[in-house]
Amino acid sequence: QQGGVIKYLRRLVYSFESMAERQNIGLNTTFPEEIDNAWFDRDKMEKIISNLLSNAFKYTPSGGTVTVSVESEKEFVVIMISDTGKGIDPQSLNRIFERFYRVEGTEEKGSGIGLALVKELVDLHGGQISVNSSKGRGTTFKIRLPVSRQLLQAGDFQEESPITDTTILPETVQQ
Ligand code: ATP
Ligand code: MG
Repeated sequence: QQGGVIKYLRRLVYSFESMAERQNIGLNTTFPEEIDNAWFDRDKMEKIISNLLSNAFKYTPSGGTVTVSVESEKEFVVIMISDTGKGIDPQSLNRIFERFYRVEGTEEKGSGIGLALVKELVDLHGGQISVNSSKGRGTTFKIRLPVSRQLLQAGDFQEESPITDTTILPETVQQ
């Protein structure tokens, strides 16, 4: 879809407002001005954001906060989803994008497929994802997606996209 990327993201994030209220979790947001002529894949965007947000709400206890901040950076949109939840230890952090992987001892329901899908979709959109987490304190996922037509097509149509670089940065994790 062409145009309206910020408006679309705003709507997606606000659709989690009632969940935030029910769980007594704060939802803070920062959005930039609309990006002109941005191209993005609605479906992929929807699945990426809703998976990351549902994790944030699932793994954050009552009284916590989820923060979404969106920035535009030339031909990219940068989306950060942070929570003040249970966090992920550094060993597990290396594996969370694997299919069916769940952190040992995770009591919340799930199948371990969400983040594998997110990573796949970010790759297909020609983007990058990184994660930072601190056990017991919270987690931040950062995604950077190209929204120029040219870059988006490179991500979509090349088997091995040269701009795909999924990074996990466990060395920046503090415990
Ligand atoms: P589902 O397939 O329903 O998404 P899931 O949430 O267990 O199941 P993923 O979304 O792939 O699977 O997440 C993998 C694991 O990473 C989770 O089981 C959980 O242990 C951990 N995790 C993911 N997001 C967070 C988060 N925001 N805070 C703490 N732990 C998280
Ligand atoms: Mg999940």
